[in-house]
Amino acid sequence: MDISQQEIEQIVRRVLTGMDTKAPAPQAAAGVPRKPVDAPASAACADGVFDRVDDAVEAAWKAQQAWREFKIADRQRVIEAIRTCARSHVEEWCRKIVDETGMGRYEDKVEKHLATINQTPGPECLTTEAISGDAGLMIEEYAPFGVIAAITPTTNPTETIINNTISMISGGNTVVFNVHPRAKRVSADCLQALNRAMVAAGAPENLITMTREPTMENVDLLAANPKVRMMVGTGGMGMVNALLHSGKKCIGAGAGNPPVIVDATADVELAARKIYEGASFDNNILCFAEKEAFVEAPVYDSFLYCIQREGAYLLNEKQTQQLVDLCLKRKGSGYEVNKDWVGQDATRILAAIGVNQPASCRLAVCEVSAEHPFVTVEQMMPILPIVKVRDFDEAVACAVKAEHGNRHTSSIFSRDVMNMTRFGRVIETTIFVKNSATKAGVGIGGEGHCTMTIAGPTGEGITCARSFCRRRRCMLAEGGLRIV
Ligand code: NAD
Repeated sequence: MDISQQEIEQIVRRVLTGMDTKAPAPQAAAGVPRKPVDAPASAACADGVFDRVDDAVEAAWKAQQAWREFKIADRQRVIEAIRTCARSHVEEWCRKIVDETGMGRYEDKVEKHLATINQTPGPECLTTEAISGDAGLMIEEYAPFGVIAAITPTTNPTETIINNTISMISGGNTVVFNVHPRAKRVSADCLQALNRAMVAAGAPENLITMTREPTMENVDLLAANPKVRMMVGTGGMGMVNALLHSGKKCIGAGAGNPPVIVDATADVELAARKIYEGASFDNNILCFAEKEAFVEAPVYDSFLYCIQREGAYLLNEKQTQQLVDLCLKRKGSGYEVNKDWVGQDATRILAAIGVNQPASCRLAVCEVSAEHPFVTVEQMMPILPIVKVRDFDEAVACAVKAEHGNRHTSSIFSRDVMNMTRFGRVIETTIFVKNSATKAGVGIGGEGHCTMTIAGPTGEGITCARSFCRRRRCMLAEGGLRIV
């Protein structure tokens, strides 16, 4: 084929003008899927699940190099894909959690998942702060940390993966999870499905990774890996304390033992209804669920009557002791939980001591002293100890002691604003709920966003994308860019 010099010049011109040399931006236009990042390449990788910790970190690190360059609109699109994917798997994952961990209630897990999926904020919460003055323009923005290692609990396995993924990815980070061994199969299913959905929405591969076999040693390897920039732990205090000693920036979401006070001015029917609802939700395995109640003497009998009317079974003294022997174990001079009974249905626990109740019974209650092990141990079972207190002073003193300084969650039923204020000031918990179930404090039946990582020990509180970002300042001096 003969082509003239003029035609050649026209073709070259067309090619050059068609190439936007200024903007081969790494970001995909909204809605346009991107080519996956050139990641990992461990033969052992399957949608983010790796055999070796260092491979999982390396893949997440490579993914982060690409992800940090994506636009906010791309992040929004990927987060929407996470939500859509998770919604379509809620029922499957909830069934699998019950099967694998043997804990909790399917229908409550569905509610918890939907709150997590719908109410965990995305990148929209990363607002820029700007100060403009004679000396110039200052902006402060939320920047990614990089690769985050996240340790997840057995009590909210996929809820925490969904919640942490939305929050951490929104901030431009990537995540290596070390999941709880007792929930590793459903956790891997969840992580792989989310990875596939993110890639289909144009994200790089391996924004979230994990090792097939999670172990305690993995946590040490993650802490030792220089490419991991932050450690986030959701679980018991042993794990949180281990992370705090990792030498890395750490966010710790540890144990609670939430006390609830019912004072003499309370709407007792409301208190009984909400405490029954909250203390039995998912069989009480939630860190923020009501674990012990302190009820002022003038309303005590009425409260006891109302909570039984809601469906609670009132244990007698002998039955209470039988449950202590069954559900707790001696540890030194104190007690610890017998894990076989954590998160079991109240009817199953009661049946084990020969008490048969209808399936509608979700909670057992017992009358005990403030020193009773059911008060002092975070038992995570649908057994609520109720302590009769003389007055409000005693209620506050007992509640503060039972909370063990975790500063996690507490609540009060009262019509006295001064009582509410006083208790709130003294107990210093991250979540303080008035006149509702404590789950309202994470947006389940209350205002505000949802999280499954309540960071009391390190102070980030109800975590969201902001919690997993670094603050960076950009200063333009000499009045530049000011238009006034
Ligand atoms: P857990 O502490 O047994 O396990 C949590 C995770 O930490 C798991 O992945 C486990 O493998 C790992 N782990 C445990 N000990 C460790 C150690 N010494 N070093 C490194 N890793 C370690 O807790 P769990 O039974 O899964 O969850 C229940 C506990 O978590 C309760 O105390 C509950 O209050 C708390 N929790 C807190 C929050 C919160 O947001 N604050 C949320 C859920 C659960």
